[in-house]
Amino acid sequence: MAGSAPGRVLPTLNEDGTRRWIRPRRSPGRYWTRRAIIGWALIVLFVAVPFINVGGHPVVLLDVPARQFFLFGRTFLATDGVLLMLLMLSIFVGVFWLTAMLGRVWCGYACPQTVYMELLFRPIEQWIEGGRSGQLKLDKQGGGTRRALKFVIFGVLSVLVANVFLAYFVGVQRLGHWMTQGPMEHPTGFLVMAVTAGLVFIDFGYFREQMCTVACPYARFQSVMLDKDSLIVGYDEKRGEPRGKKGKTTGDCVDCGACVVTCPTGIDIRNGLQLECIACAQCVDACDTVMEKLNRPKGLIRYASERTLAGGAKKLLRPRAFAYPLVMTLLVGLLVFTGGRTSEADVTVLRGLSAPFVVDQAGVRNQIRIKVQNRGNDARSYTIQLLDADGATLVAPENPLDVKSGERRETTVFVVAPQSLFHDGKRNVEFKVSDGKGFERTLPYKLLGPGGES
Ligand code: SF4
Ligand code: SF4
Repeated sequence: MAGSAPGRVLPTLNEDGTRRWIRPRRSPGRYWTRRAIIGWALIVLFVAVPFINVGGHPVVLLDVPARQFFLFGRTFLATDGVLLMLLMLSIFVGVFWLTAMLGRVWCGYACPQTVYMELLFRPIEQWIEGGRSGQLKLDKQGGGTRRALKFVIFGVLSVLVANVFLAYFVGVQRLGHWMTQGPMEHPTGFLVMAVTAGLVFIDFGYFREQMCTVACPYARFQSVMLDKDSLIVGYDEKRGEPRGKKGKTTGDCVDCGACVVTCPTGIDIRNGLQLECIACAQCVDACDTVMEKLNRPKGLIRYASERTLAGGAKKLLRPRAFAYPLVMTLLVGLLVFTGGRTSEADVTVLRGLSAPFVVDQAGVRNQIRIKVQNRGNDARSYTIQLLDADGATLVAPENPLDVKSGERRETTVFVVAPQSLFHDGKRNVEFKVSDGKGFERTLPYKLLGPGGES
């Protein structure tokens, strides 16, 4: 055919380049039950987390506009780049380790794409449109009322998911406030929510398994993360082949196709390990049911390693089984150590925005800005003191400075000093900021005065 590919390039494309819609048949079984339990626990957790508070803040709040993150009772600032980098590296190494040992267990059991698709969007679709055959029929007919109804429900669900997602960035209180107001009172928040809901809708309504088979970079990294001893979902070729109808061949595979029609990414696992396989084990459950009916042992398709499927011995202990946890322990250790050294407050002393100094009857006056960021879990009062001053006086309109947990405040203070204190137009002093509860920070500062211009 003119313009057609010489075979299927992607499971989601027909040979003429049109979309091949995957309409998998649900295969109940032991792995499906496990996935459903884990998946629902994760969905409940996703919805519950924004409502859980630790130390007066949500347990997870990524306040991007204010450039501060609250994680498990601790406040992280944009300046905590090292901590965030160590955290990201620890997560990456952890994922590498998990994948090396257990293959794509994340994809099959915990990835939001799989969890929401298989436990929320797909069940609703099957409830409205019917199972695989009903959906294929609708595909041929070009949709209809039932499909339109499905998209309406998908739209509502997408808005709900987007709102929960948004709660991680603005907190439930602000979100609740927004929800009771018109969109024009918080246009940015509304736009973010609308775009997120749109993306969720497109993903689960249209893009679907292509997120795993085409877009997700994790699948592409598989070849470097997996080895012959990693756990994968695999077909026992030795046992299954030659395949064919029952009684006609010696292999256990009766070529019923149950493992293919149940696959949510549209592949045939009998062709070997493929990057489209998300290790969901639906083919395992489907084939086990067939084997059970035929009175043959289960596990023609099973969790195994490439080595054991080829008849080799199981090999758990190998260099990467030690290397990844070792690197991860180092990174987490460094993270805990660095995090433990992070002080309970950040203090910055800056020159005032007006003239560097003013000379009047009282002496030389310097205007200084002091910024305090409270990282603690409760409100604190910070006392500002001037040290090493020799006759200079601190004038602070707000002293102590009250700062709520997680809040950043700035106050302007003045230092009035006699002219005799200055040498070459400068005088070094120190500011001490303390909260009376153990936090204390001393910062050097250079006062400016007359005589320094020459
Ligand atoms: S489900 Fe099992 S028996 Fe049926 S085609 Fe797949 S591997 Fe063969
Ligand atoms: S091949 Fe099996 S384990 Fe892999 S995605 Fe398809 S059904 Fe899931």
